[in-house]
Order: sequence, then C-alpha cells, then structure tokens
Amino acid sequence: MPVKTTDRFLLLYGSQTGQAQAISEEIAEKAEQEGLHAEVHCLSLTEKKFNIEREKCVVFVTSTTGDGDPPDTAAKFVRRLKKKTLSDSYLSHLNYALLGLGDSNYTNFCNCAKSLEKRLTELGAKPFYTSGFADDGVGLEVVVEPWMDGLFPAIKSFLGKCETNNTIEDFNNSGSSVVLSYVSVDSSSIRLSPNCDVVMETHEADSSLTTTVVTTSSIDSCMSDQVVTTSSVDNHLSDKVVTTSSVDNHLSDKVVTTSSGDTVVTTSSVDSRMSDKVVTTISVDNRVNDNVLDSSSTRTSVENDSFVTIDVSSSGAGLSESKRETTNTDASLPGNETDLQARSLTHSLPPLCESSLTLPFLPPKFLSLVFQPEESLDLNVTLQNGCPFPSAASNVTIATVTSAKRLTTQDAVKKTLLLTLNLKESNMKCEAGDAISVICPNPLSEVERLLDRLGLKEKAQVPVLFDVLPNTKKRNAAVPPYFPQRTTLQHLLQTCVDIRDPPKKALLRCLVDFISDGIEKRRLQELCSRQGAEDYGTYIRQAGLSLLDILSAFPSCMPPIDSVLEHLPRLQPRPYSICCHPARSGLIQICFNVVTMEEVDGRSYPRSGLCTGWLDSLTGAIQGDGPAEASNEIEQQLQSLSLAPPIEVPVFTRTNQQFHPPEDASVPMILIGPGTGVAPFIGFLQQRLSQMEKGDNCGAVWLFYGCRHRKKDFLFRKELEDFQSSGVLTKLSISVSREEGVTECTKYVQESIVDNGQSLVTLMDEGAVVYVCGDAKNMAKDVNAAFCTIVQENKSLSESDASGFVMKMRLHKKYLEDVWT
Ligand code: FAD
Repeated sequence: MPVKTTDRFLLLYGSQTGQAQAISEEIAEKAEQEGLHAEVHCLSLTEKKFNIEREKCVVFVTSTTGDGDPPDTAAKFVRRLKKKTLSDSYLSHLNYALLGLGDSNYTNFCNCAKSLEKRLTELGAKPFYTSGFADDGVGLEVVVEPWMDGLFPAIKSFLGKCETNNTIEDFNNSGSSVVLSYVSVDSSSIRLSPNCDVVMETHEADSSLTTTVVTTSSIDSCMSDQVVTTSSVDNHLSDKVVTTSSVDNHLSDKVVTTSSGDTVVTTSSVDSRMSDKVVTTISVDNRVNDNVLDSSSTRTSVENDSFVTIDVSSSGAGLSESKRETTNTDASLPGNETDLQARSLTHSLPPLCESSLTLPFLPPKFLSLVFQPEESLDLNVTLQNGCPFPSAASNVTIATVTSAKRLTTQDAVKKTLLLTLNLKESNMKCEAGDAISVICPNPLSEVERLLDRLGLKEKAQVPVLFDVLPNTKKRNAAVPPYFPQRTTLQHLLQTCVDIRDPPKKALLRCLVDFISDGIEKRRLQELCSRQGAEDYGTYIRQAGLSLLDILSAFPSCMPPIDSVLEHLPRLQPRPYSICCHPARSGLIQICFNVVTMEEVDGRSYPRSGLCTGWLDSLTGAIQGDGPAEASNEIEQQLQSLSLAPPIEVPVFTRTNQQFHPPEDASVPMILIGPGTGVAPFIGFLQQRLSQMEKGDNCGAVWLFYGCRHRKKDFLFRKELEDFQSSGVLTKLSISVSREEGVTECTKYVQESIVDNGQSLVTLMDEGAVVYVCGDAKNMAKDVNAAFCTIVQENKSLSESDASGFVMKMRLHKKYLEDVWT
C-alpha cells in the first residue's frame, strides 16, 4: 500500500551534557530552511510525545556516557527497544538516520549510538542515510558538519520517494544506504545504478558546469558508506566546491573524488579515529588568486541559508599580510619548519589564506536582554536556576570542607590534594566507587576581565532580565533553562555558563560579524571555516583557549553580550571519585591533581583548572603539607570545630551503576589505578577490611599502582601498606616512571600486568573482576592492551580471540572502567 509522505520527520535526541540536544536543535533550524519540518523530542519522552511504532522517518542523535552507556535521558528508550519479546519486524516500517557523539579516548566509542543502530536493524528498521559517529576527542564538527550537509537531501530524497511513486518498501529495496547530498538542488538529478553505484549529476544555473561524481559504496549500515556532498557554488566565478567525505571510514580506505576544471576539492576522512589528522586538500582557482590584492570588498555567495562560501578576495588586507609573511619565510614548501613557525592563532599561510571558505551555519538570534537598574535582586537563589544537572543521583547539597591535605611533596610535578567533606547534614547516600560532582564557579577575576573587555564593566552588577526576542526566527526559542530569568551579568557569567570552554565554531562564526579589522576578520573566518579545521584544532581546541583568549587575540572584535551568551555552553560540574568507604562516617574524601595551564600556545593568561583551581584556592589556608593519612577523623573533627568561616562546596552524587566492589567479599578483585586513579580503591579496600573484620570469607585483591617518584607522589602510601600488612591487599604492585636507576620495579602499570600475566589470568578464571580507574587518554588503553596480551599468552588464543575475550569480560561486567580525560 502506498505510504503517504509529507515533509515532516521525527528528530530524537539522547543528551547527557546538552551537546546532542544542541546539535538536534541546529538540525531542526536547518530543516526549516530546507522546507522540512522536524518534530524534535528528547528520547526520555518516549510514548509521551512520540511513538516510534507509528513513525516512518526518524533521525536519532545520541551521545554516549560512562563506560559506553546511554545518556540518562535515553536509558528508558533503549531499555524498551531491548525487550526480547519484540519481533524482528517490529520496526520494519521505520527508516532512520543516526548520528552518534562520543569520545575515542574512551574504550567503547559511541557505544550507545552503535548499539542503538544494531538493535534498530535487528528489529527491521532501515537506514536511509549513512550513520555518522563524531569524536569529541578531535572535535565533533569533523563528522557532524559533513553528516549534516548530507542529511537534508537524504531526507528529501527519502520523503520524495515515498510521496511520488514509491512505497517505503520500494525505496529501501532500491538497495542503497548511500547518501546523495547536493546543495544546489534546483535541477539536480540522481540515478541509482543497479549495482548500487551512485551517479550524481549536478547542473547549475550556469549550465556550462556539470560535475559528475561517481561513488561506489558497499552497503553496511554499521560500517558506513560514503557521503557525497556538492556544495558552495559561486556562480560569479563559475567555481565549484566538491566536498567528499567518508563518514566513519572503517571500510573505505580512501575517498574517491572526481573534479574538473575550476573545481575546489576538499577531501576529508570523517571518522577521525582512523586518521591522525584531518586531511584537507585544496586546489585554488588561480583566477581567484589573481584578484586577491585589489579587492577589499567581501564577496560571498549563498547557495542556501546553511552555507556561505567566502571568496578569497574578501580577505583584503589580511591576506596581503599573510602574503608578506609567506615571502619572508619561504612558504614554497608547505609544512616545512619555517611555515610552522609562521602559522599561529592570528596568522595563516597558503593554501588556507588563499582559499575560498565555507563558514558554518549561524543560527537566528533569539535572546533579548534588558537591564533593569531600578530592580532589586536576591542572587542567593538556587544554583543555575534549579535546572537539573545531568547524571545527578541526588539533590544538590552544601558540603563543608573539614580538612585539606597536600598528598605530594612541594617538589613533585603535580600538586595532589585530599579533601574531606562533611555531608552529615544531608541525607546523601554514597557507596565505595561512587563519585560526587562539585559545582564550581568561574573565577571572578576572569569574569570581570571578560565584562571589561566587552565594555560592560559598569553594568556587571545591574539587574538584567532575559527573554526571547519577540520576532526570532529560531524554532522553539527559549531562554536556556539554567539561566535565572532575573540576574546580573556577573552572576550569570560566574555561575551558569562556561567561559573557559574552547569556543565552538558557531561562536567564532558569531564573532565574525562583530569584528571591524579586515585582517582579523579573515583569520577568524578561516578558523571557523571548514577549510580551516586543522588550524581550529591546533590553535583553539588543543591549546584549550577560552573566549577571553580569542577576544585578546582579535582586539577589534566587540560582540554584544546577548549574542555571546547564546553560544556559551552550560557550566558543568566536575565529578570526583570518593576515596573512602562512606558507610563508616558521614564524611567523604576526594583526591585530585590541581590542573595548571601556563601562558603559552595563545593562552593570554596563566590559569588553573576551573574546579581544581577553585578548590585549591578555597582551601589554601588549611592545607597541611606533605603526605597525609586518609581518614584521621579526630583531626578532621577538630578542624571542623575551628572558628574560621566554613568552607562550603555545592555537590551532588553522580549515578554510577557499575563501578562498585562486588557485594560478595569472596570475589577476587584486580585493581588498576595509577596516580589519582587509586582514589576509589581506597574505599574498595576499606569496605573489604570491614568485611574481613566481620569474619567474611574474602577473596584475593591485587592492586597495581603507579607514580613518578615514590618519595614525592606515592599517594596513600601508608594506607596501602597497612592494607597489605592486614592481608586485605594480597599483592601491591608499584610502578615508578621517573626514578633514576630503579631496576626492581616496572615503569608503568601495564608492564607490571604483563609481568604478572599468569597469576592474573588464574585469578580471572576464578571469577575476579578487573577495575581500571584514572587516565583515559593513554593508561586505560594500554591496560586494555596488556590484558589482551596476557590472555593471548596464557590461554593460547589468537590476538583477535584474546581481544574478544576481554571484550566479553566488559560485556559481562567483569572488566570495568571509571576513566576520565
Ligand atoms: P578544567 O578547567 O576542566 O580543565 C581541564 C581541561 O583542560 C582538560 O580538558 C584538559 O584537556 C585541558 N588542559 C589541561 N592542561 C592543558 C594544557 N596544558 N593545554 C591545553 N589544555 C589543557 N579527577 C581527579 O583528579 N580525581 C578523581 O578522583 C576524578 N574522578 C573522576 C570521576 C569521573 C567519573 C570523571 C568523569 C572525572 C573524574 N575526574 C577526576 C576528572 C575531574 O572531573 C576533572 O575533569 C579534573 O579535575 C579537571 O577539572 P578542572 O575543572 O580543574 O579542569
């Protein structure tokens, strides 16, 4: 039976920190411009606001959290889909596109999106567009942008097929999950050839130009096909930009791009885990170069509302300066050392400085701000307007810091602090393995500098009212729920929005409109452009620049505060593992390294980590020197009786379903926690000690710990040695990475795991649970590899069977991680 189609589709997001929601809202905005209507809902509203049993065209955007888990808001939806009673044709009416957000620093990259896709297809759903898996480790936009480019043509193509002469079944039976994207849609035609080769022909208004892109893609919805996007046509110059991207490029080692004539070709490999860096190849139309120096006007061509291609002539003076640099530094060999020295946050080199640029979409303005000097305000209201925090498993409560001790010596590389927090007044419940989240403010000095820089010093403390612009074109525009409706700019910037987060490209794009200097404008355009992705990654993201750093580097930029606030993300609390077994008292302890960032790499001022710097400065006066004991309760209670004003920190407990010691004390544990990764294991061991004191039969516990110098940064040394002598710890393995002349121990925990392979595999065979805590970037991956090695060696398995074995342990919750970047 033919299916009636419209221009409507359902857009569902599962968001943990707001990224997936923000991307979904952007998709919805763009959809409107494309003449489509997206009905947007959070996945948590399943069966309340939507029912996928009745939907034909659904776009999913979902992040992943924890150890590959769905975001809290998606958990119910995922659980329902997992029901074993559902038939394999349950979703055979449903056609979907899926975008996963993740971080490849964590082992189960994009696991929620990947599992969701697997389950959707098991239930009969079919992809009408290739799935994208975006990696926050290198920048979500690397995948999100090209994925979004191709989405609307794919939806139109799908809905069009449904509407005209095909049923949905026919569409799916045409056998292609290949995506055809063409921005100039007027007179394009698409042909699907029988063997799934895709031929796309795009005919422009200037009919002299016809480019044909031929792509052959295998259809594997998980492993992804190719997206072909033709975009950004400047009819004046008859140039054409062809962007070909391979999304999640597991299967396609290279991207085939065909171009001809005056075509600018950009090729990028989009699953950024597979490529060390984004490769951008740009060949520049020489006629454009010739024009560069004598034009100062900005010439842009708008193909649709989503993309603007800036002609190189818009660079004006900026480019001439770049050209001068080029002459001085011999840029004839791109990438040579001289070039690298000349490239910086504020200066670019060919080919970027000569390239046409594709800028990101600028969403419609929606926020209005009115100063109300005559109003009076009580700022002691609920934090972030009482808006629930992601991952919160309790209400926010105020903890009192009863002691603060430095665990490392003064000459250690890192300063590590152990704080004891009194939660007695609250009814917060924590267990060993839980984490609490600390709600920290932005430093007042930085907020004041920012307000000063924006010309708002005098208005910092004037009451202000936020509302939605009456005539905004933004769909479902609303004041962010974490903004108090009435507040002051100082209060808002200090407590609600993240002013440190490296500005996203959308914010940079917004700043471009408020910059008066031509050189600065061009550079900022480059940094947010698709062609400038590598520079954006290097100079803004990796350097960890803040908005204030950008405004310092581009002094002619003077954006209005309301525009800036539309783009700043919510200030997120920072989680810390509890390093004690809290059932023993109403006190909990957390342990952390104080993060420091010097004034280098474009950072215009030195700074500490937002939360760790704040906790360090709050507790400076009570910090004891040198290694401390973890639970000297008498001392803590004495400190809490002192006359000094209490040091108060807002906190809540964080959900963590998995990372707890086994209830059955006889289950052996293998604990791996170098540095501050050892924190939760102190609680695990305290719990085992209690169980032992009660006479429980306790299994073996092995702990692998690592530090730089035993005398400088061996955290919890006394406690660990005590656990060993009391028999709670069966084996304590210490690795030391920076001590000269040490031969009796390994440098890193993963080496020690390999050295003890046989015993560990025996323990695993006896049912041991492996727990890994600490650095996600390197340690967790190296430890995973070490376990694969010992399983391979001691079970005589092939490499892939050994990694399958470890993967199975993860699935059966026998290998658990609590890691962070
Ligand atoms: P931020 O202001 O957030 O700055 C840190 C960021 O700056 C990082 O993204 C880092 O990449 C970047 N950065 C740092 N140095 C540089 C540089 N030189 N150049 C460029 N960028 C740089 N941490 C602990 O110490 N102990 C714990 O027990 C602990 N438990 C955790 C448990 C969980 C479940 C999670 C998710 C995290 C945990 N963390 C723990 C990490 C902790 O939450 C914070 O991320 C960490 O303390 C830094 O917070 P901050 O606000 O001080 O730093």
